[in-house]
Formats: sequence, C-alpha cells, structure tokens
Amino acid sequence: MTSATTTSQETGVAVECFGVRKSFNGTPVLKSVDLSVDHGQVLCLIGPSGSGKSTFLRCLNHLERIDGGLLRVAGEMVGYREHKGRLHELRHHEIAQRRADIGMVFQSFNLFLHMTVLENIIEAPMSVRKVKRADAEDTARRLLEKVGLAGREGAYPRMLSGGQQQRVAIARALAMRPKIMLFDEPTSALDPELVGEVLSVMKELAAEGMTMVVVTHELGFAREVADTVVFMDDGYIVEQGAPAELFANPQTDRCRDFLGKVL
Ligand code: ADP
Ligand code: MG
Repeated sequence: MTSATTTSQETGVAVECFGVRKSFNGTPVLKSVDLSVDHGQVLCLIGPSGSGKSTFLRCLNHLERIDGGLLRVAGEMVGYREHKGRLHELRHHEIAQRRADIGMVFQSFNLFLHMTVLENIIEAPMSVRKVKRADAEDTARRLLEKVGLAGREGAYPRMLSGGQQQRVAIARALAMRPKIMLFDEPTSALDPELVGEVLSVMKELAAEGMTMVVVTHELGFAREVADTVVFMDDGYIVEQGAPAELFANPQTDRCRDFLGKVL
C-alpha cells in the first residue's frame, strides 16, 4: 500500500477531510465536514458563533478526537497510523510529534505567563524537537525580529500589549517549523487598534507560502489574503468559494444573513 504521505505530496494537499463528524454528549457539532486545503493556500473559515469552527480546528490537531470520517494533515492521519491495512490510535508521544507539525494560535494567546518571551518560544523546540538551546535561542531571536518584537526576549507576557502577546504566540508556533498554521480568531480578544499589527504578520506569513487555516471575523483580511473562504453553520460547510465570489454572491440565505451582520 502506498503511504499517505507520498500521495499527499504528489497532489499538493495539506489538509483533507472527508465526512468528519464530532458530537459532544450526543449533540452533533460537526456533521460530515468535507474540505481540503492545498499546500501554500490560505483558507478562512467564517460562520456564526457555535457553528463548530473551533471544534473543527481542534480536531485538525487532535485536541479533540473525531467520531467518524477521515482527517489528514500534511499527509498523515491525525491521531492514527495505518499498519497492515488497519488503523491504530497513536500514543501520547506520537501525537505530540505529529502535533508539532501543526502550529496553533488561539484567541487568548495562551502564553506561559511565568516564562519570558524567549523561554516561551524555545520551550517546545527544545523539549519536543530536541533542538539545542543556543540554536533555539537564535531561531527565537530571528522570529521575534520577524514579528516586530526584536529586543523583547526578556519581557514577561504581562508586560506586553495583547497585540504583542499574540505576535509572540505566532513566533512561538513558528519556532516549531510547522507545516501548517491554524488560527482561531487570533484578533478577537484585541483592542481594535492592535488588530492590524497581528493581521500584517499573518499576511506576511501567507505571502511566504505558509499553509494557513484561519477562523476569523475579519472579512477584509479574508478578502485580501484567503484563497478560499468557507462558511460554516450548524456543523456543516454551507458554502465555499473564492472570497470575491462568496462575498459578492452568497448562494444561500444563511450565508447572506451572516455576511449582512458581519460586514
Ligand atoms: P464556534 O467556534 O463556531 O463558535 P465551537 O466549535 O466552539 O463553535 O462550538 C460548537 C458547539 O459545540 C457549541 O454548541 C459548543 O457549546 C459545543 N462545544 C464545544 N466544545 C465543547 C465541549 N468540550 N463540550 C461540550 N460541548 C462543546
Ligand atoms: Mg470558536
């Protein structure tokens, strides 16, 4: 049997989902989600609160286990490996290794508050990727410069603005050299004047060819940066398309209503 990795590289697919289902306590939250993202593409996921967007991202990096369907990221099944035609659930350390390929940025930054900026960024590369401290620090400094925070390595998160903290969180995710980056409403917790500095870092990443799945209400960002916009409602993908097309010509009442509220 050919490995999934080979197939994926040949077809250029970074994320593929077929019939993904997830329930919480018997309540379906994802009801058969099919979706694919090619390497180097940016997909923006929009939709009302409670429609399953965060759950979907959490399934992508195995923070949640799916109940049915198939999920592959960077050619590998999330949480499982195939051996002699059968699926085996991965062990914790194997899941951690795979998750290292998937960067995640949350609405609430999730920095380690008792660690400096530098320590936040070098921790996972050292513990999961076994990078030497000096190399991890070099990378961290380079990434801090990239996100516009050169010289702040000694600061603690509480000394930084929300926009700065979120840029540290992005640098921390990038330090693992992820194959794909997931963002869950990365600017929703920020004061309006700080949103732009985070979006511009994300735009730069997209321009460099990073594969990104971004849950966002920033439709201006989606219009400018996304290759595909996916509208999700009630656990289903209701519509998807190029941003210009989807925003100008929503095909369903649900999408039209949502856009009317957000735009
Ligand atoms: P969105 O990100 O689109 O706002 P979520 O994926 O967070 O939506 O949530 C979708 C639904 O799943 C909501 O009804 C939410 O209450 C429910 N849900 C999410 N996580 C859990 C959980 N861990 N346990 C129970 N219900 C959950
Ligand atoms: Mg959410």
